[in-house]
Amino acid sequence: MVRALLPLLWFSLACAPAVPREVAVSVGTSNDGWLHHGVAMPDRGPGYVRARPGESTRYGIPRLVRAIEDAAAAVENAFPGTPPLRVGDLSYPLGGRHPRHGSHRTGRDVDLIFYATTPTGRPVQGRGWVAYDRFGTGREPDDQGGAPMNLDVARNWHLVRTLLADEDAQVQWIFCSAGVKAQLLEHAIAHEPSRAIVFRAAWVLHQPTRAHPHDDHFHVRIGCGSEQRSLGCRDRGPIWPWWSDDAIKEDTSESLDDAALVRALLGDPPEAQPRTASASAESSSSGS
Ligand SMILES: [Zn+2]
Repeated sequence: MVRALLPLLWFSLACAPAVPREVAVSVGTSNDGWLHHGVAMPDRGPGYVRARPGESTRYGIPRLVRAIEDAAAAVENAFPGTPPLRVGDLSYPLGGRHPRHGSHRTGRDVDLIFYATTPTGRPVQGRGWVAYDRFGTGREPDDQGGAPMNLDVARNWHLVRTLLADEDAQVQWIFCSAGVKAQLLEHAIAHEPSRAIVFRAAWVLHQPTRAHPHDDHFHVRIGCGSEQRSLGCRDRGPIWPWWSDDAIKEDTSESLDDAALVRALLGDPPEAQPRTASASAESSSSGS
């Protein structure tokens, strides 16, 4: 019986995709997948603390963890004295189903508690479960004191704009309520020097349909990227044109017909390379 199964075992091993050891891999979709060799978000770092320190829902692919750390540090640099960003759940060490989330299964999702102020504008640490309305006002739950709080629009915008300017991070969605998005865009139109970043925000900030409106935190999801896609990662969302990704750049390159493909593979035959003066001048000016 065992002998009969050996060829089958050999076939399965030979045909399994080769996953390099110790490389973080996000497998499947964020709602139905898992994670290999994710990296752990530390409990604290420049400009951030984890909302549940010590808890294990802290793993992601390195690109996600690096982007959050960079964005939190950027806000702290731009606004000295900012209370640290509270970083919520990423994924379990091996990803997979999580009791608090429908997604967060593949190391490409993270929740970030909004930066907040008192009604007089004094920065205070963001709190979970404080829902902000379209005017940016919220209130702590009664069992936490019931104090009124305001959305800190300037700091939250700086976090968003840093994530969107980070083309290597490949941020696919920043889920938040339509009311929070409207306030962030209103602020950006008045203060953001880069029109390109405002344009990106208009697409990427999004209130999810058929889900929690995200009026009390951001949910950031990053795309697979070509390196993860080739290892089994599956994007269900858009692939934005500003992402830094070699595969996307190749897609937009000049298409090759059959003759050009043969030339690219084998080089031009000698008789097909008339060396005119202008051709020589062009090749020398391009440095090739
Ligand atoms: Zn989430």
